[in-house]
Amino acid sequence: MSVETQKETLGFQTEVKQLLNLMIHSLYSNKEIFLRELISNASDATDKLRFEALAKPELLEGGAALKIRISFDKEAKTVTLEDNGIGMSREDAITHLGTIAKSGTADFLQHLSGDQKKDSHLIGQFGVGFYSAFIVADKVDVFSRRAGLAASEGVHWASKGEGEFEIATVDKAERGTRIVLHLKKGEEEFADGWRLRNIIKKYSDHIALPIELPKEQHGEDKPAPSETETEWETVNRASALWTRPRTEVKDEEYQEFYKHVAHDFDNPLAWSHNKVEGKLEYTSLLYVPGRAPFDLYQRDASKGLKLYVQRVFIMDQADEFLPLYLRFIKGVVDSNDLSLNISREILQKDPVIDSMKSALTKRVLDMLEKLAKNDPEQYKAFWKNFGQVLKEGPAEDFANKEKIAGLLRFASTSSDAGEQSVALADYIGRMKEGQDKIYYLSGESYAQVKNSPHLEVFRKKGIEVLLLTDRIDEWLMSYLTEFDGKHFVDVARGDLDLGKLDSEEDKQAQEEVAKAKEGLAERLKTALGEQVAQVRVSHRLTDSPAILAIGEQDLGLQMRQILEASGQKVPESKPIFEFNPNHPLIEKLDAEPDEERFADLSHILFDQAALAAGDSLKDPAAYVQRLNKLLVELSA
Ligand code: ADP
Repeated sequence: MSVETQKETLGFQTEVKQLLNLMIHSLYSNKEIFLRELISNASDATDKLRFEALAKPELLEGGAALKIRISFDKEAKTVTLEDNGIGMSREDAITHLGTIAKSGTADFLQHLSGDQKKDSHLIGQFGVGFYSAFIVADKVDVFSRRAGLAASEGVHWASKGEGEFEIATVDKAERGTRIVLHLKKGEEEFADGWRLRNIIKKYSDHIALPIELPKEQHGEDKPAPSETETEWETVNRASALWTRPRTEVKDEEYQEFYKHVAHDFDNPLAWSHNKVEGKLEYTSLLYVPGRAPFDLYQRDASKGLKLYVQRVFIMDQADEFLPLYLRFIKGVVDSNDLSLNISREILQKDPVIDSMKSALTKRVLDMLEKLAKNDPEQYKAFWKNFGQVLKEGPAEDFANKEKIAGLLRFASTSSDAGEQSVALADYIGRMKEGQDKIYYLSGESYAQVKNSPHLEVFRKKGIEVLLLTDRIDEWLMSYLTEFDGKHFVDVARGDLDLGKLDSEEDKQAQEEVAKAKEGLAERLKTALGEQVAQVRVSHRLTDSPAILAIGEQDLGLQMRQILEASGQKVPESKPIFEFNPNHPLIEKLDAEPDEERFADLSHILFDQAALAAGDSLKDPAAYVQRLNKLLVELSA
């Protein structure tokens, strides 16, 4: 044993303590995954070394083949993983094995409820990585040395996984990392060649690097007594999965590879594996995750693909290959055209990347189309997790607007309880004879839009209306003007023209009524004054007395509220007041001789229409006063 110097004891970051605690309680039924996680890290570490060695070949220190060795000691009850990858310096070990760098972690962990704490999927969503060692070990020793540092600059990190870890500087002749797991009581089964081999085959067969175990002797599972005599054998397939032909890769292999690439626990929903030959040559393997990561909406959340050039790992999170609205896609891209010393800066400018990006984007959209068609249930899950992000698509990716629109799902007057399940193609399939527009109404919540007076005429005529209640919807609709040649029409906007859905007689009757009620319209306009842009007879109402429509060019309520909330100055716009000439209240109003009373009633109707549209009142006290005055008169 070499001498340890500069020994100190440090505390884990609070988040690490919480994670360790949760993990041990939620992953007890899936303990064996610790090996997968540690192998995954070792594989990443050799990838990083190979990459850095492109510029500095001396890092390879003579060039022994990159590999992972796993050994065990039944008596000492230990399992040891050793890799000759990039390794860690003392500082690396302190930060990487003592803190969690992902932003939003503390928040995520804090908000897990008691029940959720037992849910391995929630912890899995987070990616437990190195700390999973503590599922089976009550003490973990890590010996490491970063490539390029002197043998005397090795580090020994040790912890019982409770609140702190020890760190010391040690000699380490070989570059890379050795992790010794001291198995907990009851977990001795892992110190067993047969068991380890099975776990490796099950979860880590796809790892491109050889994973070696001591060779079994005479069918007996006993490693040789000393290191020098140990014969090793490779137990995994050890070839990069994406380089194999699609037909030879089993679903389970694709799934395990996904977990390695995405640091996810759950299976992906779908994947697409393609080899492109011709002007550009590359292989891509793209996955749709099964659930959203906890930091999907964090600005600095990990996104992008793992980039390889001719099988050599170049970088993680290469986000130049997919648009932002597909940032949830995980996977690898391996190019034969890019140079091995490509940097992020060059990636951003390289025209090759642009054409790869548009091809990969199309691949993802095709994969989603296929999923929607072949497995609507799975697509529903996809939509729940990532629908909001996909809605950013039409604004970002003009060229694929129609394709993205086809993937969107909406709630509508025909869907159950506000479920976002209606595709635009379904809507078009259900259109009434003579209908050539796609109608929608946006608002704050399903409860609010579902009962909006704007829907009355549509209900009467049996026409479906899409109900848009996500914050992003109105903004989305400002980019989506048509689908399949049909224009979108906001039913709360402008002068609703139902086109052929109204018969000639209907239209004539409407004109006549408008003419007959011109006087009332003018009287109302005088009473309401500057609050309204216009007053007119409505054709959209059956049950309500009045409604507020938005001007054709004005901002909708939702956009206005979002802009206001973000502190921006929003141009003032006045609504159009429409009244229902057949409503008894309007009839009464028309017959009201007293101008003051007429004005009071008009204001009440206006305010009520604003409330029904989900807007707030400019002067709520005045509304209450007028209403009370009316109530007093009524009960007098
Ligand atoms: P993640 O792998 O998701 O980043 P982990 O907790 O598994 O998170 O690991 C934290 C960090 O510790 C890694 O990102 C890496 O920098 C370092 N690390 C872990 N295992 C090794 C290893 N075998 N060799 C070198 N560095 C490692």
